Amino acid sequence: MSKKLWLFVSVLTLCLCVGCAVNPITGEEEFMLISEDQDIEIGKQYSPEVEKQLGGRIADDTLQSYIDSVGQKIARICHRSQWKYHFIAIDHKMINAMAMPGGYVFITRGMLQKMTTEAQLAALLSHEMVHIVARHSSAAMSRQTGISMVIAGVGASGAMPESGEALRAVQLASQLIGLKYSRDQERQADLAGMDYAVRAGYNPNGAVELMQMLEAQDEFRPADFLSSHPSPENRILYLTTRAQTRYPNVKNLRVAKDDYQKNVLDRLEYYEKNRP
Ligand SMILES: [Zn+2]
Repeated sequence: MSKKLWLFVSVLTLCLCVGCAVNPITGEEEFMLISEDQDIEIGKQYSPEVEKQLGGRIADDTLQSYIDSVGQKIARICHRSQWKYHFIAIDHKMINAMAMPGGYVFITRGMLQKMTTEAQLAALLSHEMVHIVARHSSAAMSRQTGISMVIAGVGASGAMPESGEALRAVQLASQLIGLKYSRDQERQADLAGMDYAVRAGYNPNGAVELMQMLEAQDEFRPADFLSSHPSPENRILYLTTRAQTRYPNVKNLRVAKDDYQKNVLDRLEYYEKNRP
């Protein structure tokens, strides 16, 4: 091979590798400008602001540690089990849940009150976990130069926030909250999320019930689930098919209605009555 051709091939190879990352859920290479370390840094640096903007956390340790214990079961079996995951219940009546890069999952009081079993909670947390593991937000941000430029500074500066940093945190947090996933990303989260929940020991029908509950809401539909694509009907259909074909034997899988009642619904009822 001539020297010039060799150089050309080398440069081409380099161009193809830079700005790509393998999505462990699909096994495919995707365009990615944000590193895994930056994912973790974004989560650590901006999750307090996101938490604040969503409504702050529910002051009930029993409830928080129950949600966390369910989440950690999924964290142990996911494709990025080496990351540290945080599951936080937010004090807001909206029916909502969201995932932040690097391992943060937020779930609102409104959402918790609409669910009835631990298997449904596991389905929801699994769905959000797939968004984190597959780095869906970072992939979306990589395609939006405005955000990726902000992100480029993350991790480069030291741990101490400088002046102006606070405003940037507010802006970035609201951008993260408003970020929309694509049809394909939602499908990945739905289907791989069901697999995660089952691997963590949960009945896959929790995902079907969760989607049916969300479809029945006229208002307060969470951004992550109300997008017209894929339509809720469509999602219920492919989730039902997945459950029936892949997991026909669910006898020994966990549903845990009583535990959910005791650790979430009863706690929230008490919490709302005794609000300061
Ligand atoms: Zn989603």
